[in-house]
Amino acid sequence: MATEVYEQLLGLQDLDVRITQLVHRHAHHPARDAVAEVEATIAELDQSMVAVNETKLELDGRQKVLDDEVATIEKRRSEIDAKLYDGSVTATKDLLALQDEAAMLKERQDGVEDVEIEIMELLEPVLAQLDASAVTKADLESQLEARNADLEQELSAVDAELADTKAQRAAAAEPIPADLMATYDELRNTLGGVAVARLTGKTCDGCHMSLSAVAYDRMKKEPDDAVVHCDQCGRILIR
Ligand SMILES: [Zn+2]
Repeated sequence: MATEVYEQLLGLQDLDVRITQLVHRHAHHPARDAVAEVEATIAELDQSMVAVNETKLELDGRQKVLDDEVATIEKRRSEIDAKLYDGSVTATKDLLALQDEAAMLKERQDGVEDVEIEIMELLEPVLAQLDASAVTKADLESQLEARNADLEQELSAVDAELADTKAQRAAAAEPIPADLMATYDELRNTLGGVAVARLTGKTCDGCHMSLSAVAYDRMKKEPDDAVVHCDQCGRILIR
């Protein structure tokens, strides 16, 4: 009769151990590592593309300056063309000066356009790298999405089991007397979650030590319903 409550206590402890395991599993689920792994790869990729992005911005900037210069030259060249052919300039000296300026501008424009071609050639591998990295990143992001979905599913399974185990625990705690429950809770807190241990022969299954002869004799004299503690570790012993 008295041993029944101790068996119930042992059953309660099994549930408490299971709850602790489930809480730990929730916090350290391997699916979390799988998510973190992809996140780290994405961060590495982003980091590796910083310099490439900077190069692209720098080349874009240089190209913009050259484009603006070409636009300015072209504007001036069409103004000159207009003046040369609209009859507004008649003096030979002035016409020659305009022709000289037009020739100089044409030369300058050719030079600028050569540099623009060089920049485009520099941009080509940079753009290819950016495209490749965008493809890789999209792939990683879809992997991340899948792994997050997997994690969510795994965690909700753990949550469901945890809720179920907690309900079982509440039911299992009901028949246990309050004072025994208080002792149990206190011991669980101080003894790493294991408050109750079976006595096998003279050995406590909690600490795997043998009871002293004195403690063993004293225990033998205790009534069946008395709470007996291991004299080595202090756990409640199930006789
Ligand atoms: Zn012990």
